Amino acid sequence: MAETKLVHSPLLTYASMLTLLSFTPPFVILMWYTNVHADGSILKTFNYLRENGLQGLINIWPKPTAIAGKLIICYALFEAALQLLLPGKRVEGPISPTGHRPVYKANGMQAYAVTLITYISLWWFGIFNPAIVYDHLGEIFSTLIFGSLIFCFFLYIKGHVAPSSTDSGSSGNIIVDFYWGMELYPRIGKHFDIKVFTNCRFGMMSWAVLAVTYCIKQHEEYGRVSDSMLVNTILMLVYVTKFFWWEAGYWNTMDIAHDRAGFYICWGCLVWVPSIYTSPGMYLVKQPVHLGLQLALYILVAGLLCIYINYDCDRQRQEFRRTNGKCTVWGKTPSKIVATYTTTSGEKKTSLLLTSGWWGLARHFHYVPEILAAFFWSVPALFNHFIPYFYVVFLMILLFDRAKRDDDRCKAKYGKYWKLYCEKVPYRIIPGIY
Ligand code: NDP
Repeated sequence: MAETKLVHSPLLTYASMLTLLSFTPPFVILMWYTNVHADGSILKTFNYLRENGLQGLINIWPKPTAIAGKLIICYALFEAALQLLLPGKRVEGPISPTGHRPVYKANGMQAYAVTLITYISLWWFGIFNPAIVYDHLGEIFSTLIFGSLIFCFFLYIKGHVAPSSTDSGSSGNIIVDFYWGMELYPRIGKHFDIKVFTNCRFGMMSWAVLAVTYCIKQHEEYGRVSDSMLVNTILMLVYVTKFFWWEAGYWNTMDIAHDRAGFYICWGCLVWVPSIYTSPGMYLVKQPVHLGLQLALYILVAGLLCIYINYDCDRQRQEFRRTNGKCTVWGKTPSKIVATYTTTSGEKKTSLLLTSGWWGLARHFHYVPEILAAFFWSVPALFNHFIPYFYVVFLMILLFDRAKRDDDRCKAKYGKYWKLYCEKVPYRIIPGIY
């Protein structure tokens, strides 16, 4: 069995785990409350909490309700059915540390198209009004918070009693096992991949579904959709479309190939993605801003460019690995390092590290356009309030931490070859600066 290794010092690890476990659920509720009931003003929410204390938080915390439960279950079952039933190419994931290679059905783009077409058709033909989702958003988040915690307990128990593959193991500490997870590739039966469901088909899909919901709600509320909302929605939808277009590539990334199924990844994708990632749109529903055509277009084009560069970074790395380095990068033969490493089962393997193109600028340059894209779909809110920018700030912290975690992991995996890569490409994220 593989063991979970801690990346940071034990003190920092435990402190950050306990902080996130206890503060993220109320934060989700406060984010919703501030955007929907406090005019997007953190100060208003803060003053309310200062006057009413913990009881104030309990008062605004919506109870999970039957309607919220029904909406979540219908959505989850619909997405699970699409994941299982829609056709798709057979795709192999990367070899795991224990030498296991997961196999997937790549039908994400089809599921994405079916979901959005179904959702918009239900609204268009008057069968279901998405504004209902916005009206019950607090209850939905509350139900998701508790439901997903139960789901993570299920993952913890499954990891102990019925792991799906050899890529599973315990750190010997219950909090670490619950927080970081035990299984890398948990499945129900042979085909239903739980992380594909939580991360992609529930989490990322909910981002697009809620972006559309916010637009429709604003239209219902004001009789029109503001240009700020349009720019925000278009950019978020292009980003999520890019994600599903490239979903099989996502199965090679840290989230899937290295982070196990626990609170951090699964609760994050089931609750944090729908509530926090969509928050700039949630803010705009009741605080519409008029940008004017020119400014709206500038922001839109800048955002599209960043999403494209981020996509191209991922594409370049994947194409390079897929063709075993026999491709061109920015019109030239790529420069590379041939790195060998040993799996936990003692097998010797070889990997290629790209040292030109985007990957020659900095070791995680792709995070720069990712952060900038998030800035561009938040900035249509202009600068009346801080809350629409919370996601960008959070993303910066997440990605700077992720870059460190990834560097440490790669250093342990590739040893002297990683050192060589760091000498060739000395900057971690921002060329010339960091
Ligand atoms: P990736 O997993 O795509 O890239 C890192 C991995 O690539 C490393 O672990 C290593 O894996 C391999 N690698 C590292 N350097 C090289 C190189 N020079 N050449 C070839 N392979 C290399 O990174 P992420 O998962 O962090 O990001 C994937 C995408 O997801 C990005 O677009 C990112 O912006 C986005 N993202 C978005 C987040 C959000 O919340 N919005 C959060 C995280 C990511 P190996 O062991 O195979 O060598």
